[in-house]
This record gives sequence, C-alpha cells and structure tokens, in this order.
Amino acid sequence: MSRVYNFSAGPSMLPEEVLKKAAAEMLDYEGSGQSVMEMSHRSKVYDSIIKGAESLLRELMNIPDNYKVLFLQGGASTQFAAIPLNFMNGSGKADFIITGQWAKKAFSEAKKYGDVKAVASSEDEVYTYIPKTSKEDFRSDADYVYICMNNTIYGTVYKELPDTGDVPLIADISSCFLSEPLDVTKFGMVYGGAQKNVAPAGLTIAIIREDLLGKARDITPTMLNYQIHADNDSLYNTPPCYTIYICKLVLEWIKNLGGLEKMKELNEAKAKMLYDFLDNSKLFKGTVRKEDRSLMNVPFVTGNEELDAKFVKESTAAGLVNLKGHRTVGGMRASIYNAMPIEGVKALVEFMEKFEKENG
Ligand SMILES: *Cc1c(COP(=O)(O)O)cnc(C)c1O
Repeated sequence: MSRVYNFSAGPSMLPEEVLKKAAAEMLDYEGSGQSVMEMSHRSKVYDSIIKGAESLLRELMNIPDNYKVLFLQGGASTQFAAIPLNFMNGSGKADFIITGQWAKKAFSEAKKYGDVKAVASSEDEVYTYIPKTSKEDFRSDADYVYICMNNTIYGTVYKELPDTGDVPLIADISSCFLSEPLDVTKFGMVYGGAQKNVAPAGLTIAIIREDLLGKARDITPTMLNYQIHADNDSLYNTPPCYTIYICKLVLEWIKNLGGLEKMKELNEAKAKMLYDFLDNSKLFKGTVRKEDRSLMNVPFVTGNEELDAKFVKESTAAGLVNLKGHRTVGGMRASIYNAMPIEGVKALVEFMEKFEKENG
C-alpha cells in the first residue's frame, strides 16, 4: 500500500491513526457486534459516541456552558441561509466583511432575508488580504456581523478579530477548525463543515451562544432551526452517525497529541517551512500579504501558467496530489491541515527545490 500526501482543500487528509482505528472497529464496534454505520442513533452505544464527541470538543476548545454544540448536516453552505433565518430577527440587518468567495456566498444568501451590508471587502486585490475595520464601520443595531475566519481559496486568516462592539460576531471557521486555540467567548456563533479538519464530509458543527437562540423566524424550516436541534441534542432526526464517530476519533487524536496548543505549534512549524521556502525562492512566490497568511491554506505561483501546469503534473506523479490552485486564483495551493504530517510538507518543499533547479 502506498499513500499519497494529499494537499486538497477539502475533503482532505485524515490522521492515519484514525483511519486504522476505524478500520479495526469496522465490523464490531466495542463488542456491539455491529459497525457504527449500522447502529441506531437512539441506541445506548451510539449515545456514548455522540455525547463523547461533544464533550471532547468542549474540552479541547474550552467551550463555556452557555454555548450549545450542534451536529448538523447540509455543509457550511446550508448555514448561509440558516444564520439569517435564525438570527436576523431584530432590526433585520446584518453586516458582512467580504474576504473571498465563501463570505460572498454567505452574503448573497443572507440578502434574501433582510438588509445586508458589505462593510469592507478585499475583492479589489483578489482577496489577498484581510481588510481593516473599526467599530464605527458596523451598524450598531445590526443583528450580527459575519466573517469568514480562514479563507480557504485565497489563503488569508484573521489574526485579530474585528471589533464589533456589542453586535454578535458570527464566523465561518470551516478551514481553521481545531487548528489552534480559539476564544469562543468572542463570538455569538462559530461553525464549519467538518471535511477540512475534523471528519469526513457530511457533518457541520455549530457552536452557538444560548441567548441568541429561540428567535428564529416563523418561516424557518424545522431542519434549519437551531433551537430545534439544540432542544433535541442534535438528534431531532438521524444525524450523520458515522461521520460523528470519526469526528470523535479525530478529537481523541488531537487530545492525545497534546490539545490545540500543541496542534498550533505543529501547524506553525509546517507553515513556516513552506513560507520560508517561498520567501527565499526565485521561482515560486506566495500570493498573500505576509501579515494575513493562513496556517492552513498556502497559495503560490510561478508567474508562468505553463510552468504552474508542469509543476502540478510532476508533483502529482511524485505522490504530492491536489496541489492545483482554485480556478479563480490559478497557480498552486497547498492545504496543510492538521492531519498533514510535517514529512508531507518537507517532501513538498524538497520537490519544489528540485523543480526550481530544473526550471528556474
Ligand atoms: C469548504 C468551505 C465552505 C463550504 O463548505 P460545504 O460544507 O461544502 O458547504 C464554506 N466555507 C469555507 C471557509 C470553506 O472552506
């Protein structure tokens, strides 16, 4: 068996230990005589999986008791509608910072439900930076301010959160979930699709401050009403059972590594290796402003489309896969999520060095 280093933006690599444990437990989970895929979501044995996943998440992220943790479906994209339906219920206003396609999609969806305002945008420079804002930029009567914390496509991240005063901040953390410690108390809600850093596709996790719940619009579909899911401990209907189980294994893996502080340390070491190389290379260069660089997604280019294509082709042949950049950015992108081992980044940098010698 030979496994590749997969630099995909998502779905992405899972820790090998997790895959092995899942394989070992596939036919008979803890003496139950069944696979987790087969068991009732109302069974005692499954209850300990979903409760275990929640309590591990609470422990690792230090989530306070006044926040609900919801295991949902529909991907991050479904929350683009659920968020306005649940929270745009006071003034009917929401302010957005447009830092890329995901923020823009969330903005366009919310527009269907109320008075949305794009307070700042970095579209002018192809989203290669995080725009600066101050408290005065936001409407003080807005129901929430929305940001996309880590911009998967463009490779930027918020290092400092916008000051929104008393207006709750809601963040899409899909591509930086569990990559480093996060102060949940700074947010009204954070949420993300699991397939980047937490589990396989099919699960969306939302962490919501309780006082914001219970005010969904009457027209809100039941399945999009966060209060319903909170009241039913994420078991209103059948949850993505197996994905939640893998999520629990990933959380155990992070805990055994030493938690989110340690995860951050490992992620910083990986990102530094790649960024240092890019900063010193004569052929490759990073596309993002240094101060806004993501730890998770690293876009880079040679400046020559043919060379970029050659790089993608040759790197794939060398077992470094999915390095092609997003179609709107071009070039390359290395997504180096939690499960990417440092050996994978090392292999990538060595490959880039070799490519530069041959083509520089
Ligand atoms: C991948 C991604 C999404 C889309 O997630 P889906 O689960 O496919 O809907 C949204 N936001 C960010 C930041 C992402 O990286």
